[in-house]
Amino acid sequence: MLSSVVIILMLLLSTAVHRLECFSVATLRANSMRMTKPRGRRARSTVTHLRAIKGVIFDMDGTLTPPGNIDFVGLRDSINSIARSDPNYAEIKSVEGRDVLEVVTMLSPDGKVEAGKVLKELEDKCRENMRLTEGALEVLQDLKSRSISAAVVTRNVTPSLKRLQSILNVHGITLNPMIARDTINERTGEPIPPKPNPDALRSIVELWGYDVSEVLMVGDSLQDDVMAANSANVKSVWINTGIDNATGTQHKEGNPDWTVGKISGITAILEDFNP
Ligand SMILES: [Mg+2]
Repeated sequence: MLSSVVIILMLLLSTAVHRLECFSVATLRANSMRMTKPRGRRARSTVTHLRAIKGVIFDMDGTLTPPGNIDFVGLRDSINSIARSDPNYAEIKSVEGRDVLEVVTMLSPDGKVEAGKVLKELEDKCRENMRLTEGALEVLQDLKSRSISAAVVTRNVTPSLKRLQSILNVHGITLNPMIARDTINERTGEPIPPKPNPDALRSIVELWGYDVSEVLMVGDSLQDDVMAANSANVKSVWINTGIDNATGTQHKEGNPDWTVGKISGITAILEDFNP
């Protein structure tokens, strides 16, 4: 009698274990399906992003306007010379390796005035001689024909951007937005920090309403343009002009996604993304 009860209990226990195993396998399979499905969605989403550039942000000096128009070596030497005789030099410590615009902000009030004159003289002269880089107009017209947005971010000042826009107006090209080092952020009431700070790029991506992966930064400076793009997580094209345009920040160069020799080189890159 006792052995019969034991046998019945063992049979019931075996059935329960079998049901539990079946349930576990089914749950595992369901989880497995749930795990694989999102991976597929992510992959498709990434491919979609990689196939469309919706906006291009250009640097101005050396990119849309020809390299060499500004003597960056002479500018650095002039500002550093002012800094070495400035009362704040002890705070500035070593001007070697510092961003030239950062050095200006650290000068005494008199030093800022003197440095401002140097910058103004240089930028006024640059503005008078302003013209477009060979191939720049064709690139901008190509973007317009593809309905790709175009903007500009420069460490130069607003009057230089207005001069650039007046040149482009003749050809029906509009860059929007245009951000200079004196452009005021409407939210903060303060100037938008110049490249390599990424704030200008981030604000443009936000204004356009594009995904960050749909935007390209094009510039001739590894220290400023490419660094800003890297920090903003924006893809970048470095135009290697072979001209020293370093602004002073040593050992801080960005890593471009592409390197071209001329601005016309970005057309082939856009073809790959927007066939
Ligand atoms: Mg430049």
